[in-house]
Amino acid sequence: MNDYIIRAAAAGGQVRAFASTTRDLVEYARQAHNTSPVATAALGRLLTAAGMMGSMMKGENDLLTVRIQGDGPIGGLTVTADSKGNVKGYAVNPQVMLPPNAQGKLDVGGALGVGVLSVIEDIGMKEPYVGQTILVSGEIAEDLTYYYATSEQTPSSVALGVLMNRDNTVRRAGGFIIQMMPGASDEAAAAIEEKLSGITSVTALLDRGMTPEDMLRELLGDLDLEITDRMETRFYCGCDKARVEKALISIGRKDLQEMIDDGKPVEAGCQFCGKKYTFQIPELRELLAKAAR
Ligand SMILES: [Zn+2]
Repeated sequence: MNDYIIRAAAAGGQVRAFASTTRDLVEYARQAHNTSPVATAALGRLLTAAGMMGSMMKGENDLLTVRIQGDGPIGGLTVTADSKGNVKGYAVNPQVMLPPNAQGKLDVGGALGVGVLSVIEDIGMKEPYVGQTILVSGEIAEDLTYYYATSEQTPSSVALGVLMNRDNTVRRAGGFIIQMMPGASDEAAAAIEEKLSGITSVTALLDRGMTPEDMLRELLGDLDLEITDRMETRFYCGCDKARVEKALISIGRKDLQEMIDDGKPVEAGCQFCGKKYTFQIPELRELLAKAAR
């Protein structure tokens, strides 16, 4: 596993930054969900972001969910991350195909359409914290930048990239989040602004083979960059048969009865990781007995 997230501070704590390389976990997601190129890019960007956002949480059991619901053909994305670099997620319609956008790039914005981005943080309080903003472009990085500015009042720069090989496997993936802390000086903000304007895109940095450390040095190297932490990040789903059972029970007695009447074992997959679980007829009968009348 080569994927990892680094955390850093710069300008004497006025700035905090995160960067990651996520090629392996995005490729894992691609294979698990058999995603089309535009869905690989969309899901890969959101998984990359969620890993870094999760690493901002403090508690062992804290969980973060980022959900994008839009009117585009991908039908939405849901991604979950913990505070230890574990991420999982899915696209509603993973096989969506779209022509390239006006820039000749994978049309993630077109795939998501007009919609809403929600961030749900479960940090052990009675109610989870929910923040919501509209999609600015549907390109995900811009949408998260907007989310941080409006919902959390934290000026941020979010960049996410997924590069594909000719055979549509994932070549490189990664990104960064740079945030201005309360009380940060205008000089620090201006210096970062200038550095950001000097790079074309995070994909260009990734394509040059830059590591997360390289990316932050490129952007914050003149501002006393201090890399404080490094953690592995991976696609991990803790599902088991019991969880899929609950989903099957929830579809109701009528559908369960139909499955039993069909007389064949049923294969049900985990939504998050695609893992298949087989249920034999006697097991389906047990589920039917547990299902609400
Ligand atoms: Zn699973």
